[in-house]
Amino acid sequence: MRKKYICGNWKMNKTPDEALVFAKEINEKNLDDVDILIAAPFVDLDILKKNLNKNIKVAAQNVSEYSDGAYTGEISTTMLKSMGINDVIIGHSERRDIYFEKDYIVNNKVKHATEEGFDVILCVGESLSTRENNEHFEFVKNQILEGLDDVEELEQVTIAYEPIWAIGTGNTCSAEDAEKMCEHIRDILRKTYGDIADKIRILYGGSVKPNNAAEILSKDDIDGVLVGGASLNANDFIKIINYKENL
Ligand code: PEP
Repeated sequence: MRKKYICGNWKMNKTPDEALVFAKEINEKNLDDVDILIAAPFVDLDILKKNLNKNIKVAAQNVSEYSDGAYTGEISTTMLKSMGINDVIIGHSERRDIYFEKDYIVNNKVKHATEEGFDVILCVGESLSTRENNEHFEFVKNQILEGLDDVEELEQVTIAYEPIWAIGTGNTCSAEDAEKMCEHIRDILRKTYGDIADKIRILYGGSVKPNNAAEILSKDDIDGVLVGGASLNANDFIKIINYKENL
């Protein structure tokens, strides 16, 4: 039985002071028995790690594929580990589209981070034109096979299916369509890697809000959600964590 996984992605939002306010707000609440993660900007990681309840994981939103050296502006797994951070999001569509992270770079990062013991959330998802051309299943399959190529520590991987046209737009993929893609992803994982497919969690992301989280999370093959905008507000994020109250 895969435990539901509720993950927030703050993107480039919140100063350390604002992160501290959020940590205090969320620490005070009773939260359902789900796994919880917040992926925050690098400058917020330390304050969150020190102030959030220990059952909430803190993740980076990106990491270098290199161990150390002349890579101006980059952050290494060693640096993150020294702060007690062991989780990272890799291949978010904003990294792919705005910073031109190709599948081979995403793959190098996933390989490096998992070898260094990190738990990785690998993001995949198609653009609107790819979906309209009915090429979304094939597109996501390639992203997964390329992103996980030669990755040995598959038990450290979570997949987040995030259709680009649903991210930050208010256009949620229907729960049925999201479930279809998550089933497809599990199928690819099973055919490629065998039984471990049943242990890998597959999340949906794209305009998840307190009012649609319960429907999405009630689907069998959707093991959690990756939440952008609604994770910035502690009350909204708590409502998503406690989604069972809306079932
Ligand atoms: C995201 O940042 O991964 C995301 C899904 O954003 P939003 O929930 O705002 O669509």
